[in-house]
Amino acid sequence: MAKSSEVEDNATLNSEIIPKKIDKENRSQTISVYDQIRPKNEGSFMSTVREWEKMAGFKTPIVWINTIAISLAHALVLVSVYFLIIDGRYYPKWQTIVFQCLSIVLTTFGIGAGAHRLWSHRAYKAKLPLQIILVIGYTMAGMNDLYQWVRDHRVHHKFSETSADPHDANRGFFFAHVGWLMTKKHPDVIREGKQVDMSDIDNNPLIQFHLNKIMPRENWVVSFFVLGEGWHNYHHTFPWDYKAAELAFPFNGTTNLLDLFAKIGWAYELRVAPPSLIEKVAKTKGDLSYHKE
Ligand SMILES: [Zn+2]
Ligand SMILES: [Zn+2]
Repeated sequence: MAKSSEVEDNATLNSEIIPKKIDKENRSQTISVYDQIRPKNEGSFMSTVREWEKMAGFKTPIVWINTIAISLAHALVLVSVYFLIIDGRYYPKWQTIVFQCLSIVLTTFGIGAGAHRLWSHRAYKAKLPLQIILVIGYTMAGMNDLYQWVRDHRVHHKFSETSADPHDANRGFFFAHVGWLMTKKHPDVIREGKQVDMSDIDNNPLIQFHLNKIMPRENWVVSFFVLGEGWHNYHHTFPWDYKAAELAFPFNGTTNLLDLFAKIGWAYELRVAPPSLIEKVAKTKGDLSYHKE
């Protein structure tokens, strides 16, 4: 008796489930990723643009406002370099140079030590004054809000080099560095982004202040990353190591600054991968091309 009812159950189960499954498979086969996330009700001009994007082979629709903003920002840098260095007639005041240098240090520090090492990976702990400095530096960089940065970065670590990676390297060098900021997210990235645990960020009053009071919700993204491959591998193996380097320079300014803040106690419980562990992993997993101090 028990057996036959089991068979019956399976039969009803199958007849109910299989058609749905096939239906789902058919859908994902016939509807391309592009069409799944293509913006709706856009007007005839944008519809033509979308058709062109699809024909040109873009996997996901282009976010034109970001593309234009990022391109303009880079063009502006080129024009500035020309007038300030090559042409030479418009040499800046020394105050401008000092301010520029300070803001470069502060923004790099805000992204590297703040968004990345502290908030995405909890590689160390920071007292409130240091957290305020980090939030200011991060905000000055004019990137996406901190919540999005941390969420995207956690998803990147969890699903690196898959379709759920926000800057999936399989989609090319340009996409992995800037292109991903210029197109709509892959549905897999959106799906996994919703799953990732963000409770620590939700419960951080300073970040909530940054999100609600400082950042306009739709900020333009005007930045890109230079990741040294050696450091990149190292960082994916030991994401919780506070020395994670975002830049491919042997001199790691963010780490030096963090060490300074550690001296006065504003940064503490800094986590480091012990050399013995690094060596062990390098031996078993192959060359991590890790950098020694
Ligand atoms: Zn990475
Ligand atoms: Zn990371």
